[in-house]
Amino acid sequence: MTRFLPFQFRYHPNGQVLLVNECGDYSFVPQSTFEDIISGNFTKENRQYFDLQSRLFLEQAENNEFSLQKTAAKYRSRKAYLRDFTSLHMMVVTLRCNQRCEYCQVSCAEHDAHKYDMPVHTALKIVDTIFESPSKSIKIEFQGGEPTLHWDVVKETVLYAKKKQQKSDKVLYFVLCTNLTGITKEQLLFCRDHGICISTSLDGAKPLHDKHRVLRSRGSSYDLFIRNLFLAREIVGEDNVDALMTTTAFSLRKLPEIIEEYIVLGFNGIFIRSLNPYGFAAEQSGVLGYDMHEFVAAYTEALRHILSINRTRFFPEHFATILLSRILTPFSTGFVDLQSPAGIGISGVIYDYDGSVYPSDEARMLARMGDVHFNLGNVHRDPYKEIFGGSKLRSIIKDACVEVTPSCAHCVYQAFCGTDPVRNYLESGSEIRKMEGTPFCIKHKGIFDFIFSLLADMSEEEENIIWSWVARSPTVDRNA
Ligand code: SF4
Ligand code: SF4
Repeated sequence: MTRFLPFQFRYHPNGQVLLVNECGDYSFVPQSTFEDIISGNFTKENRQYFDLQSRLFLEQAENNEFSLQKTAAKYRSRKAYLRDFTSLHMMVVTLRCNQRCEYCQVSCAEHDAHKYDMPVHTALKIVDTIFESPSKSIKIEFQGGEPTLHWDVVKETVLYAKKKQQKSDKVLYFVLCTNLTGITKEQLLFCRDHGICISTSLDGAKPLHDKHRVLRSRGSSYDLFIRNLFLAREIVGEDNVDALMTTTAFSLRKLPEIIEEYIVLGFNGIFIRSLNPYGFAAEQSGVLGYDMHEFVAAYTEALRHILSINRTRFFPEHFATILLSRILTPFSTGFVDLQSPAGIGISGVIYDYDGSVYPSDEARMLARMGDVHFNLGNVHRDPYKEIFGGSKLRSIIKDACVEVTPSCAHCVYQAFCGTDPVRNYLESGSEIRKMEGTPFCIKHKGIFDFIFSLLADMSEEEENIIWSWVARSPTVDRNA
């Protein structure tokens, strides 16, 4: 008798039925085949029988234990990021910023509000805490505000962390998140000499970028950005400078022009990011926000456009690449924002300027809005074990799994999706909620629907493009 292993299904908008099993293997079957499956009439005579068997939808008749072991091995690979506890450590070295972007999620502080600077002794204490992490791979990301405004702390942190690294078995990476407008040659030379990568923001051509990303001192942030982008590439190296964009109501219908701007400026891809409902973005949601269905429509149209661009040049969309990597490979992607259990605290963590610890940047932004619900402690007061092994983080993570979340528990995209308890809490007052109909779910379900339609009906050329994105994606952890 044919026995099926557990799987989820969806009557897909493309007219077929999509099946996805526990280890993330998928298959499309015609509706008639699906009816045979659920009525117990699916037999070896069906032409998809052996395909479904090889993808672990069916037990191996002669060796059930073998099927389960193979499923378990694949499941372990997908969840391998759990073994790497905690690798991404973000430090808010100052909340001050020389810009006041319309959508700033951290509600950054005035240029001269030095009370929001991280003291050196706090930075060093944070590094001590970071090095207690069992993860072999440590990435320290300098955030703000604008971290170049408090450069001494960045320098001291890098030098101290490198000293500690010599006595450890850890691999160390640094990222500087900067708007680039005020960065100096000396700072860039320091980045080059210490292997610090640069992550910046570009929202489009000059009128759009200047509209979103406003200099406090007046003038064009775009002009300064461009000047320093080329200087940064020259000093730090082209591959070590990357940018992402934030989509507002003003840019939603301008994605093709924004993509063009990225190409003209020599970027090798784009990350199209939706607006997060925090900080100034929350205050301005009536002006900057949009219905998530609109975002999905604009995003999927942009993705089609990017696929056509890739006929002649390599130019991936990075969010789609992350999702495709999850769907097409058994490897972890290390993308903290979309994991189950959620990556907050266990994959990435953020230290505020005063040493307070939050499980995610969004949790810290929430604290900036006056709600410290997700505070995990403070490096000056609490030992590592209390912050990372205490009851607070355990209780957040316990419920932060799609497998136990209403709607997600039976969703066909469960194996590829994730959960965000901080956003749930912000929107509903509860870390766990029914996800169907939420902006988070509308966005991800819509994009997954599009990607699976593409996978079901793609040309050989599109298949080659998609695999070239996945194969060259730095976010896929093949050693996991
Ligand atoms: S988004 Fe970044 S660059 Fe813009 S105001 Fe906020 S901290 Fe400054
Ligand atoms: S958030 Fe939506 S798309 Fe993601 S697993 Fe849950 S129900 Fe599915």
